[in-house]
Amino acid sequence: MTANATTFKSYIGVLFEEINPKATNKWINHIGIYHRTRTRPGLQWCPLCLRTDEVPYYRRRWRLGISSTCLKHGIILSCRCQDCGKPAVPHRSIYHQCHHCGMSRLSGNSHVADSQALQFEGMLNSGLLGDPVSIEAGKSMHPIIFYRNIYFIYSFLAFGPRSRSLRRAVSNSYGQVFGWPSISTNVVNFGALSSENRHALAGLTARLIEGWPWRFIGLCLDARFYWSWITKDNDRNEIPYDVLRIGDKYLRGN
Ligand SMILES: [Zn+2]
Ligand SMILES: [Zn+2]
Repeated sequence: MTANATTFKSYIGVLFEEINPKATNKWINHIGIYHRTRTRPGLQWCPLCLRTDEVPYYRRRWRLGISSTCLKHGIILSCRCQDCGKPAVPHRSIYHQCHHCGMSRLSGNSHVADSQALQFEGMLNSGLLGDPVSIEAGKSMHPIIFYRNIYFIYSFLAFGPRSRSLRRAVSNSYGQVFGWPSISTNVVNFGALSSENRHALAGLTARLIEGWPWRFIGLCLDARFYWSWITKDNDRNEIPYDVLRIGDKYLRGN
């Protein structure tokens, strides 16, 4: 996809360092432009917001990977037509109807968000507005560093043959199994995930970083999530320092 540099410009220095309009950006969801249509579910929407807007409009936040919920209505954002499964293509639709089957995006079922995912995304959003953020409670870190840590945690929870055991360990520790719709084998990139997948990641990450770093260490040990695997699968320079430091110190023998 190409990022609309103007739309996301205010996030430079906060969510990301720069925007390359010709390349993919880590936190901007892919919409998969193909001719005049879209193939990826990167534009999310809240049916309740659209329904209650005087003039319905698509929020900038709905294109970001840090969002899978509507913070106002507490529901999981939609990302595909509930009838035919096509992504939203607003410039090809009238009155917010699906361009393919005509179903209105203002209607359809909505699902209540997981409360911890919702709270966590509230923090992710407040960081964009200048509030202090950190993976460690009561501390604050530069937002760029904070979002880099979260992106790394999201990625290793989502992808790779070893991620499943860690997801299960986090779920089990709460006696709750989060819905994890299967990820299509051609989805290997965070920006191409569905809102349901990202919602599960937000819920899992909220629990994984609680009491940082001890719960993270304990759950990685439970999941036999070997640190040597992580450092083999990832360039050490790509691993955020906060995670690397903890992994090197506490999970190395694992
Ligand atoms: Zn809403
Ligand atoms: Zn449709």
